[in-house]
Amino acid sequence: MNNNEIKIVFTDLDGTLLDHSTYSYSEAEKALKSLREKSIHLVLCSSKSRDEIKIYRDKLSNNEPFISENGGAIYIPEKYGLKCDFDKTDNGFLVVEIGSEYKILKSAFEQIKIKTGINVKSIAEFTVDEIVELTGLRREEACLAQKKEYSLPFIIDGSEEDVKNIQDEISLSGFNYTEGARFAYLMGGNDKGKAVNILVDIFRKNYPDTKILTVGLGDSLNDLPMLEAVDKKFLVKKEFGNYEERIKVGDLIYVDGIGPVGWNKAILGLFGK
Ligand SMILES: [Mg+2]
Repeated sequence: MNNNEIKIVFTDLDGTLLDHSTYSYSEAEKALKSLREKSIHLVLCSSKSRDEIKIYRDKLSNNEPFISENGGAIYIPEKYGLKCDFDKTDNGFLVVEIGSEYKILKSAFEQIKIKTGINVKSIAEFTVDEIVELTGLRREEACLAQKKEYSLPFIIDGSEEDVKNIQDEISLSGFNYTEGARFAYLMGGNDKGKAVNILVDIFRKNYPDTKILTVGLGDSLNDLPMLEAVDKKFLVKKEFGNYEERIKVGDLIYVDGIGPVGWNKAILGLFGK
């Protein structure tokens, strides 16, 4: 393996690095250690909000840039030293905003709800207790999960046809739809792939003479654009041992393991111990 190469691992959190039910990454500890020892960049790329992701960056002692809300924004620590065009600074981070503002999404959501007459409920309409019940998150994290800036998570209570109608109405309204493990998402023009491409481009401009290898790991539909954007694409199994069928991309590696178990295998297989 080329040691002069910059290696960047982009990973989804829920159901990929983190266990679907317990949100633990303990099964991936060996691979995480291996990345640290080899100074391989690990970029968290999640549907979670900035503050939710910060919890996991702290736990993992991760000081890398990260991508929030399905590519809604990229956060680059100012101390990291990457030069780039950014939209604002926020608590020591340069922020590249890609998604639409939450209040625009909220009013679009209300319109879509009225137009389709389908029973959809945004995360803001749930109580914290309901979110705890629905996600298994701790209370503090459930509160943070409600505070989105660039995406609107929601639940559709209806048939497959209702889901299809909602998707159609969202795209007619000029917005994007995707799904994670538990929620559907209304978003502006963002997706994880766009954000990955922008961040990789920033690395390229800062290190024009160095080769960059990108790796992606995901489990759900919202990871498809991220997997399309990277060189090495890994799909882990979902909680019941199945793969997300809607992820179809060339050179996709189906990892034999659910969530963090698969993550561990994929990373150790690629980079060694
Ligand atoms: Mg996921």
